Amino acid sequence: MVVEEIVKTDSSILKERQDFILHKQAGGCSGDGMRCDSDSVSGAVSQRACVYCGARVVLNPITDAFHIVHGPIGCASYTWDIRGSLTSKEDLYRNSFSTDLRETDIIFGGEKKLTAAIEEVMEKYNPKLVFIYATCIVGVIGDDVEAVCRTLSEKYGNHIIPVKSPGFSGNKSTGYRMACNAIMSLIGQYKTKEKVKGVNILGDFNLAGEMWIIKDYLKQIGVHVVSSFTGDSSYESLIAAPSASLNIVQCAGSSTYLAKQMEETMDIPFIKVSFFGVEDTTSSLIRIAEALGDEKARQKAIAFTESKAKEIQDLVERYKQNLIGKKAAIYVGGGFKAISLIRQFRSLGMETVVVGTQTGKKDDYEIIESLVKEDTVILDDANPAELETFMIEKKADILVGGVKERPLAYKLGIAFCDHNHERKHPLAGFEGVLNFVKEINSSINNPVWDYIKE
Ligand code: SF4
Repeated sequence: MVVEEIVKTDSSILKERQDFILHKQAGGCSGDGMRCDSDSVSGAVSQRACVYCGARVVLNPITDAFHIVHGPIGCASYTWDIRGSLTSKEDLYRNSFSTDLRETDIIFGGEKKLTAAIEEVMEKYNPKLVFIYATCIVGVIGDDVEAVCRTLSEKYGNHIIPVKSPGFSGNKSTGYRMACNAIMSLIGQYKTKEKVKGVNILGDFNLAGEMWIIKDYLKQIGVHVVSSFTGDSSYESLIAAPSASLNIVQCAGSSTYLAKQMEETMDIPFIKVSFFGVEDTTSSLIRIAEALGDEKARQKAIAFTESKAKEIQDLVERYKQNLIGKKAAIYVGGGFKAISLIRQFRSLGMETVVVGTQTGKKDDYEIIESLVKEDTVILDDANPAELETFMIEKKADILVGGVKERPLAYKLGIAFCDHNHERKHPLAGFEGVLNFVKEINSSINNPVWDYIKE
């Protein structure tokens, strides 16, 4: 059955969601476009996280900051435990602090409680950097979080930064923007015209140490890293960022907004990169050297990537034999990761039959559409019912997603690969390619699926 018929006849797909689902037509792009980058349809039970969660994704990896969640305790359950970015120094960020708003606070206001929480933190620990996240209920009762932060910043002379992230005030992308605004309000105070030849890495959160892999690659080709946003970062490293001469943006969904602001106000140009897959890692390293106008680094990048690709080639080839002809479904956060994954699957002889993202932009979907084959289903801001319908219809062998998609795949008897913030092994760089291929192979070819089918 073609997708248009499924959408029309399947009651599990809401009429209001039809514009967010695209069926790749014969002969290239369908030209119809699809809706994306907008708020979720009410009642659709989107897989997408709230504004506050989007902000926390970006800011939580700052290792020496206090992250205080101003709201009921439930919001604070979103912690380091499910966003396992690693640190080389401080580990304060692994704690979760909350003002634990209760009924009386909701009635009489939570500003006093927030003030007391910040004062306690300042007097006990005196951190240089504190982020205060406004959650849904704070947006409803109207606590003036900005005023509290301003007053206490003046009192203590430290950076106490409000993050305007009530969960209902938009979607996860709004949260990314709020986090970027919070970062800008800090680093904007350290603007400088004096630049060093080096890059800031934006949109990498050092999951399973991936930031360290990327930094090592850049070191190998002679490119200096000034700062990173925000994996394994600290107050001191962040404020050095305005002196960089180039920003490289890995997670475009979360950090392009920050890169654009830094370009406008600090005169730092940016390029988008991806370190997922041999193809994208290779081209990213070469493009970074080119953007810096560094011929020596470019030559080194070519030689380095050739030798790294050779190192893993035999093993990847061996696993590939088990995977050729299998079908993949992808549902991830941002468009750039989806694009890299389609390429990675293609290099393994696998076809992507369903692909979607939570926060993809029009440009991302145009690239996705140009990469996938005819009949592929492309979805924005999907819900479990849609993913289930199209994975079954397209006979996907594996789903690549995050923690929310894992149970869905297993219930359907479909293999799964976690490509989100909860994973414990790196999937970036050449090391990541090997881990990815091994995981895809062991999940797809696990004998458990035969027992389930029986
Ligand atoms: S901010 Fe709102 S939507 Fe987000 S976790 Fe808290 S209550 Fe839930």
